[in-house]
Amino acid sequence: MSNIAKQVEAARHAVVAASIVCREVQDNLEEIRSITKNDKSPVTVADYASQAVVAMVLQEHLGHVHLVAEESSTFLRNEDNALVLDAVVAAARGVWDSANAEKILEAIDIGAGDTDHHSFWTLDPIDGTKGFLRNQQYAVALGFVEGDTPTIGVMGCPNLPVNMSMPLDERDEHGCLYYAVKGDGVYESRCDDGKAETIRITRLDHMEGEEISVCGSVEKAHTNVSDMDRILAWIEENGFGEAGEPVRLDSQCKYAVVARGQADAYLRLPTKPGYVERIWDHAAGACIASESGAFVTDIYGRNLDFSHGRGLEKNKGIVCAPPRVHGLMLRAIEALGIAPA
Ligand code: AMP
Ligand code: MG
Repeated sequence: MSNIAKQVEAARHAVVAASIVCREVQDNLEEIRSITKNDKSPVTVADYASQAVVAMVLQEHLGHVHLVAEESSTFLRNEDNALVLDAVVAAARGVWDSANAEKILEAIDIGAGDTDHHSFWTLDPIDGTKGFLRNQQYAVALGFVEGDTPTIGVMGCPNLPVNMSMPLDERDEHGCLYYAVKGDGVYESRCDDGKAETIRITRLDHMEGEEISVCGSVEKAHTNVSDMDRILAWIEENGFGEAGEPVRLDSQCKYAVVARGQADAYLRLPTKPGYVERIWDHAAGACIASESGAFVTDIYGRNLDFSHGRGLEKNKGIVCAPPRVHGLMLRAIEALGIAPA
């Protein structure tokens, strides 16, 4: 097996295992809440368990890995949080029989790698924590960055229905797994057991005259909703097309929703001037959307540059769409002064 095939296989196993853990935690939200006496603890438990499981599986398949992950073990190492650590161990045991506190903490620490390497993995163990707590969309997102670009993207969307006629704000029983390798297209399967049939997603585009549907964050703090409305109004007023009702969902599932042609664009329009996007919020998703034929840039049309540490320091916001719609979005953004030239 080639090195890249080995990496993809490891990443798929890791993400499927972590998705199973997250789903299990979601099935036991109330129990975890009552044990830890904290309303938000289920997402904390799932976040740490997911990171530990992904790190463990990657290392098991690939040996030493450079992994830059969102969480650190500091909180769990504090004795005051022993109940949470116990719950993390219990959650991880669903897919990792021999897990114990020490092994979990060590595995989480694998994710404390730095970005000072030509290539490294980056993980958001649960992207879209608010969606997780609402029983809506979230993602386990694992990307492999080489130089300034993600070259492998694997994303588990445990609540996203494969069937595109199903509502996006409800929890699906199986969920979806998307993965992509740069230059090799995007693949879809279910994310409950990793054994489901895998299909290759057809490259997408958007035809003139079709309604333009856009997706964005549920959380108003994460994207400028009124700028999104202005962009869609500009497109309509200038006769470039009719805009559909925007679709709102949490997490980088949005990249997958564009990749599978369910939405024509994912817009992330800055709310706070100083906010820098985190690499793990975009590496996997951007790779998946690019491989479906979408252009993925910032609001200035610049490629996302993953070579500046843990943040996309050289970018502002996100515009992800098939070429025709991408061009329209950038024209609208410039014309409206959302991204001053
Ligand atoms: P979403 O579900 O697309 O709204 O994205 C969730 C991600 O938004 C989280 O993982 C955070 O890293 C990120 N986030 C937090 N604050 C902001 C902000 N002010 N602007 C953009 N993204 C943010
Ligand atoms: Mg995130």
